[in-house]
Amino acid sequence: MARRRFSGDTLVIASHNAGKVREIGELIAPFRVRAVSAGELNLPEPDETGDTFVANAELKALAAAQASGLPALADDSGMSVDALDGAPGIYSARWAGPSKDFGKAMDKVWQAVEEKGTEPPILAQFVCALTLAWPDGHCESFEGIIPGRLVWPPRGSNGFGYDPMFLPQVEVDNGNLRTFGEMPAEEKHAISHRALAFRQLIDACFG
Ligand code: IMP
Repeated sequence: MARRRFSGDTLVIASHNAGKVREIGELIAPFRVRAVSAGELNLPEPDETGDTFVANAELKALAAAQASGLPALADDSGMSVDALDGAPGIYSARWAGPSKDFGKAMDKVWQAVEEKGTEPPILAQFVCALTLAWPDGHCESFEGIIPGRLVWPPRGSNGFGYDPMFLPQVEVDNGNLRTFGEMPAEEKHAISHRALAFRQLIDACFG
């Protein structure tokens, strides 16, 4: 089926998460699109009631597109741990609690893994669903997945969220052992789940 292409000059980034807005802004910068965030436009944050990453990305993108009258791009993402049957998954942000304390969220993940008695490597993946929605209700969605393993204790202060405890498998394959938290932003952007989803979005809807 033909994908709908983006043809405006302004795109709403349908997120109130500063880390995501920054990363998406950096990824979209080369396409000469002005990015404004949902926060700057004071758009309401819809409840994430979907049961998949794509369903949540669609409901956030649609809410922002309909409220602003502009095309909107939403990201729903998270980390899924195999030994925890995919948790925290779509609840990754919620595991950090109202204070958005990802130090605590990482502790919680590691504690749950230890309680299961799982032997290393502790396999996990970051998943990113991206949806571009238009005010008329049309949506285009894409998903990127990067496999890896968890390390403990967390390492590095780059990135955001669970980055310091996630060692991407490509690093292991290349003989390196840097977590996303230890990588410079441009290296994470080249390989991340968000970059993988983004590349599909660009090929289909931009350029
Ligand atoms: P939501 O998509 O806003 O519901 O939240 C996604 C949550 O997943 C974020 O708050 C982070 O905790 C986590 N997450 C998503 N992408 C990344 C990433 O690239 N690095 C680290 N954590 C991430």
